[in-house]
Amino acid sequence: MNKKNVIKIGGSNLKSAKSILQIVEVVKSYEHPPVVVVSAFFGLTNKIKKSLETLFNEDDTLGSLYHFLYQLKSEIILEIIENPEIRNQTFALVEDQLNKLRQYLQGIFYIRHIPEKANDYILSFGEKLSAIVLNGIFNDKGIAAETKFPEQVGLLTDGVFGNASIKLNLSKENVEKCFLGNRVYVVPGFYGVSAKNEINLLGHGGTDYSAAAFAYCLGAENLDVWKDVDGFMSGNPKHVAQPKPIDHLNYDEAAELAYFGADILHPRTVEPVRLKNIPIRLFNVFNDHANDKPQTVIDNRTSIHPEIVKSVSVENNTGILSLRGPGVGYIPGILSEITKTLNIHGININSVITSQIAINLLIDKHIIDKAFDLIKKLKLQVITKASIKKNVSLIAVVGSGMTEAYGVAAKILSAISEEGINIHLSSIGASDVVTYLIIDEKDTKKTLSKLHATLFKKDFKHPVNLFVKN
Ligand code: ASP
Ligand code: MG
Repeated sequence: MNKKNVIKIGGSNLKSAKSILQIVEVVKSYEHPPVVVVSAFFGLTNKIKKSLETLFNEDDTLGSLYHFLYQLKSEIILEIIENPEIRNQTFALVEDQLNKLRQYLQGIFYIRHIPEKANDYILSFGEKLSAIVLNGIFNDKGIAAETKFPEQVGLLTDGVFGNASIKLNLSKENVEKCFLGNRVYVVPGFYGVSAKNEINLLGHGGTDYSAAAFAYCLGAENLDVWKDVDGFMSGNPKHVAQPKPIDHLNYDEAAELAYFGADILHPRTVEPVRLKNIPIRLFNVFNDHANDKPQTVIDNRTSIHPEIVKSVSVENNTGILSLRGPGVGYIPGILSEITKTLNIHGININSVITSQIAINLLIDKHIIDKAFDLIKKLKLQVITKASIKKNVSLIAVVGSGMTEAYGVAAKILSAISEEGINIHLSSIGASDVVTYLIIDEKDTKKTLSKLHATLFKKDFKHPVNLFVKN
């Protein structure tokens, strides 16, 4: 049997009738029917989130959310689906979901509290609705399609609400039996189910991660991510002059770039597919998809560019928690006590940089205050000074071969010092593919544009991939 392709359709490709019809063409361009994992319609997840925030203090949030969803789906169904039977069927399925959602929202409204479990359940409707509508559209346009929900096929999670991990091997046993037909399957992304059969979200932008998990479970040929932009670039056009597309990355480079805010992929997308060496291919719907040429391919090969560096990017969510005191570096047990406490409270440490007199923890800004309080409560005698810094940005310079190539770090550091920019912390050599620097947030644009201009020659192209043996 032919291996399937799993394709992911993002919310930015589900904006209007026109963009949805482009997706129909994309799906038709595959020789064998793919599994299509979909995001919610553009902006919908945020709209539902906002409604939940104001549910108890604004009049009729519920009514207006419900009305909005109903309108959105009806407009799309009426505009695109021509066959009256398919149209009515799709309407009925949407109504059925919206009724479930309405009952749930009303229940919450009465108890005046949104449990985590309810939050995840409610937000999953964005994806469920787009899957149902897209399925109807495919059928109407002559593509045999069937919808499968993650709870029907057993995409299993670890039970964490809001930011779950997928249990790949358990899921595989369930999922591989469910996609055997010779038709397109449409699956809502962004969530899986726990062993208790409760819905768990996979974090912001989590449809990439669910699509990657489905690719793993099905041993897919490729994971194709369809977007409305040109894949990974040497820099964000908002920050740097003339960024160039990157046609190849290995899994490590892509994971670092996704993690450091390149905003192209969910940071965990690489995890499942690399286990089976399934390539991720990024396509732009606006380019000619008939020629089947991805913008970026991500796989296990390593390519070295003449510039070594492939991309510079920024992440603005990380702050620094500094703990100082003579000997924090050599007195045993300090770091383990801190990490144990943070771990119990579910706080992730993004990175640690230590010296003999300081421990610096990089932690997400939105939870850094909580981490600070927890550490203060430990009353560790050796720590004489503790502080946090939030108005910082983390700059990542990514490219394979960085630690072996001569002079890359020197180029980076001297470019920054020429601009008079202060580096609070840096890490060079922790991994072979990334150097990162923490600078004041106000210097972000200056740093990125200077680094890009220094590291890439003006007329550089990203063509010749010199593949090296891993
Ligand atoms: N709709 C979800 C979000 O915006 C998941 C996704 O689009 O990947 O976070
Ligand atoms: Mg998205």
